[in-house]
Amino acid sequence: MKNDGNPLVRYAVSINGIVQGVGFRPYIYNRAVEFGVKGFVKNAGSGVVIDAEAPRQALKSFIKEMVQAPPPLSQIEKISIRRQEVQNFNDFKILESQESDQILSFIPKDTAVCEKCLKDISDESSRWFGYAFTNCTDCGPRYSILKKLPYDRCNTSMDSFVMCEACSAEYNEPSSRRFHAQPVCCPECGPQLQLLNNLKQELRGTAVIKKAVQLLKAGCILAVKGIGGFHLMCDAQNAQAIEALRSRKRRPDKPLAVMAKDMAAVEKLCEVDDAEAKLLQSPASPIVLMNRKHDCPLPKQIAPDSSKLGIMLPYTPLHHLLFKEGMNWLVATSGNKSGLPIEYQNDEALKHLSDTADYFLLHNRDINIPIDDSVFKVFRGQKQVSRAARGYSPLSFNMGAVHQLVALGAEQKASVCLSKGGYAYMSQYMGDIKNPKAYQTYKKVIDNLIMLTKTSPCAYVHDLHPDYLSTRYAMEQSMRKIGVQHHFAHMSACMAENRLSGMAIGVIYDGTGIGIDGKVWGGEFLVGNLEGFERAGQLSYMKLQGGDKAVEQPWRTAVSYMSQAGIKDWGIFKNINEYALETVQEALEAGLNCHETSSMGRLFDCVSAMLGLSHSISYDAQAAIMLENIADYGINGSYDYDIYYTGKCLQIDFRRLLEGILRDIRKGRKAGEIAGLFHNTAASFTAEAVEAISRQYGIRNVVLSGGCFENSLLLGLILDRLECKDFQVYFHKLVPCNDGGVSFGQLAAADSMLRR
Ligand code: ZN
Ligand code: ZN
Ligand code: FE
Repeated sequence: MKNDGNPLVRYAVSINGIVQGVGFRPYIYNRAVEFGVKGFVKNAGSGVVIDAEAPRQALKSFIKEMVQAPPPLSQIEKISIRRQEVQNFNDFKILESQESDQILSFIPKDTAVCEKCLKDISDESSRWFGYAFTNCTDCGPRYSILKKLPYDRCNTSMDSFVMCEACSAEYNEPSSRRFHAQPVCCPECGPQLQLLNNLKQELRGTAVIKKAVQLLKAGCILAVKGIGGFHLMCDAQNAQAIEALRSRKRRPDKPLAVMAKDMAAVEKLCEVDDAEAKLLQSPASPIVLMNRKHDCPLPKQIAPDSSKLGIMLPYTPLHHLLFKEGMNWLVATSGNKSGLPIEYQNDEALKHLSDTADYFLLHNRDINIPIDDSVFKVFRGQKQVSRAARGYSPLSFNMGAVHQLVALGAEQKASVCLSKGGYAYMSQYMGDIKNPKAYQTYKKVIDNLIMLTKTSPCAYVHDLHPDYLSTRYAMEQSMRKIGVQHHFAHMSACMAENRLSGMAIGVIYDGTGIGIDGKVWGGEFLVGNLEGFERAGQLSYMKLQGGDKAVEQPWRTAVSYMSQAGIKDWGIFKNINEYALETVQEALEAGLNCHETSSMGRLFDCVSAMLGLSHSISYDAQAAIMLENIADYGINGSYDYDIYYTGKCLQIDFRRLLEGILRDIRKGRKAGEIAGLFHNTAASFTAEAVEAISRQYGIRNVVLSGGCFENSLLLGLILDRLECKDFQVYFHKLVPCNDGGVSFGQLAAADSMLRR
């Protein structure tokens, strides 16, 4: 009846991917109006369904636009189009979805404030001018405020704020950027800031943000509530403030993250390549580890052990407002005491951080689930996640998993992973769950993810370590349990993320994890697929005296290893008293408090201590980070070592390596050269072992995993050696190589085992 010369065509279009909760429907509505398309759009299943009717050319342009320029947070994975009989629709509608329609293939993530909202907060004529909680469909908090699905305001911590008339009008206006933006609010109706001193007295009179900046400029430490928890902030150029923060937080050495005003401010601190710049400015807005410039204007105390700095850009309107008053860089470290999880509730933060922070910049929008800042780095042009958290988690990954499972991860860098409908959902990093508060969060995150994904697990997957709290959690469940060996979980994580289903050689270099022989593994060559493995090689077992103490004080590891290498030259430990040295040796000879380990992490500790870099450490992997940091990258050559077989298992004996290092120390060779040669040696014995195992098993695929591969120098050297021998080498990008990725690997392995 209409368009006589231009007959109508009707298509049913279904789109899958990240298309719910990202403003896809209002976007479709606006494009439909623009192109004269009639019909409707609605959420259905894990995607969006569009019924579109228009003259052929208009319909083509509409679909082309949708595919080529979708909303910024969306990601189309699959699109299918079916021709339908013409209906003669009168208009274009957004149809409401039923809750039962929603099978989420992703959970909405917390997103950095968008350009348009930034314009609103700096536009004096806007009702959002200077408002710290401005957001829209393209940006703002999501996962951290979400209590249950569907993702509607009443199911978030915004439910206590009643929308004013103006906000309500925007929320209901399909052409508005804030159409169905669940956390939409304004100064009239939304959350408010509050500035308190550490005696809980409110500072009134001056505009809150101006006052907060004055305090920061005066060298004070502020606890600032953000998206997923509190930051402790201070002026990053003020060495005294940084020292105070370090001593109050009891964090003497661990690098502190910096928030920089904008890209220009980042570039004054670090060498920034294109991939790093893109990552910094992405909606997830993570911390990015980058090389510090020689003339970096920030004091060395920010990251005393490392040539790298962890930097992020402001990601909430509040952060941007803080930077409007003339500062360029703020220290922005997690708001917690060392070893404790991040604070995220006002009362608790006021209680626990009152002797750390001078002032508190709070607000009354509750955080439901705490989530730290994510940490990434760029390796050879590709991003690698080191800590999966805000803006990135929960990570949904189409793994093709058949079973509904809950994998419980390790213990120190805990995470959990669920599977439902083929997808794996990996939680955020939750720190060391030995801490009771972290364990509480851990249990809450499991419950929350089960609820959000509507998973009914048929089994719980756990580590083999009986004392890990994650294992104990599994044992408390009445369901079936599946144990997955720690390093096989690392290997499986790397295989699954690289979609590798055949046989592979896994080189797993790690700190500690219990092996199937009950010993502490960590320098492993595993052969297998997702269904199972055998141990084809290892760093030879060495006796380690002192248990956890040896991990905290790497000189103890060095004494243990050097004794067994027959090189008892204790003169190199200038700061350790003779009595302590003797005690360790005697205990070692008597076999007191000793265990055998094949850990690569301990070998790094040993060498770091021999070079006098780190007799004791204050944070995880400090000794290895220091060793990587001083290593002379360009140096050629390596130390001797031995490779032989015990039964079917290849052994890498590194005692002659330690001899070589000691010889060089005695000669007075530079520590940086020795560290470089050590890295070369590790790459050499790795490549030689892989070649031998490859000949034996006829396998050319190699996966690299385990926490030691956070060391980019080691990763790069091993990659080069293996690739020039034509191996197919896979490493981590989406999932952490450290224990934060163990839950993901446990899930992939358990699903395959169950399928068999
Ligand atoms: Zn926005
Ligand atoms: Zn309002
Ligand atoms: Fe591990």
